Amino acid sequence: WTEGNQSDADNSLTELAALAETAGSQVLEGLIQRRSRPDPATYIGRGKVDDLGAVVLSTGADTVICDGELSPSQLRNLEQRTKVKVVDRTALILDIFAQHAKSKEGKAQVELAQLEYLLPRLRGWGESLSRQTGGSGRGGGAGGGVGLRGPGETKLETDRRRIRHRIARLRREIKSMTTVRQTKRARRSRNAVPAVAIAGYTNAGKSSLLNRLTGAGVLVEDALFATLDPTTRRATTSDGRLYTLSDTVGFVRHLPHQIVEAFRSTLEEVGDADLVVHVVDGTHPDPEEQVRAVREVLAEVGADRLPELLVVNKTDATDEETMLRLKRLWPDAVFVSAHSGRGVDELREAVERRLPRPAVEVRAVLP
Ligand code: GDP
Repeated sequence: WTEGNQSDADNSLTELAALAETAGSQVLEGLIQRRSRPDPATYIGRGKVDDLGAVVLSTGADTVICDGELSPSQLRNLEQRTKVKVVDRTALILDIFAQHAKSKEGKAQVELAQLEYLLPRLRGWGESLSRQTGGSGRGGGAGGGVGLRGPGETKLETDRRRIRHRIARLRREIKSMTTVRQTKRARRSRNAVPAVAIAGYTNAGKSSLLNRLTGAGVLVEDALFATLDPTTRRATTSDGRLYTLSDTVGFVRHLPHQIVEAFRSTLEEVGDADLVVHVVDGTHPDPEEQVRAVREVLAEVGADRLPELLVVNKTDATDEETMLRLKRLWPDAVFVSAHSGRGVDELREAVERRLPRPAVEVRAVLP
């Protein structure tokens, strides 16, 4: 379902397909429906659900992925009608984050986000039974028997309580890990080493540029979200000043709020940087939309007041017309190719020029 125009919907669906492939799925077919608002019961319209059912049958798909957040009842209704597993955008993104989290903190953050997503969606025998006895008209099919209701409700409550406990525990753990990181951060600011944060839309080429700039072996993947946990590298300016460069969590449109919440502490680190290097993929069909999406997330963690250096990457693969348009649009941006290395020296100089100068310069004077 979309309320926007066709190309917005196409871009969003292309991105969803890329996300699904990152999660290890094989994408068979896309289906778009234009409506003024989602159907409260089935998200897409009832007639479209039949079309979807037919596509599922003809392609042999085992999962339907929806480009939006489904309410628990929409999800249930769609699963009943299509007879396959239904996943929404949020669940898909959470799944990818879960696959990619490496550090202890990253893992805890993802688990917290997943449990918060799960809690309102948890269903037990109790609920489905009371619906059946409530005469909702859904006859037949699988269901519990009489007598399951009492213990069933109890089990659902136990599950909910267990999840709430786990959530509380994860929050405490994350908080203590954040404290450790803040101490490190405080040390950094005492040492007055300037920090540069590399931000940008997922797949823009942040890791590749970090590698180019520092010669470090950061994992580069043609997959969304290769970078989940921030990687920090040391770099030196041409006149020997030290600074750090950090790659940050990939940004996507409609990042689930559970993720923004869970990763807030990681994202907030961007807010402490002295400079944000905002990498844009010059080959993307709508780079302006990507820039807007990233700036929105940056604003959410208070990093929108920092100096920003816009960098258009992948110029080796960008056509000339687009290059001209982007140069007019962003006259102050630096145009680079992490692959060929073109513009990387210029980028390094641009970064150095924008680094804060130390208040006092200490020089060793040799006799
Ligand atoms: P990140 O998600 O922003 O960290 O992006 P990566 O650095 O992992 O790169 C994402 C994909 O874009 C990879 O397939 C890279 O090989 C590709 N890529 C990165 N830089 C360039 C570039 O300058 N030119 C081209 N053509 N591809 C690039």
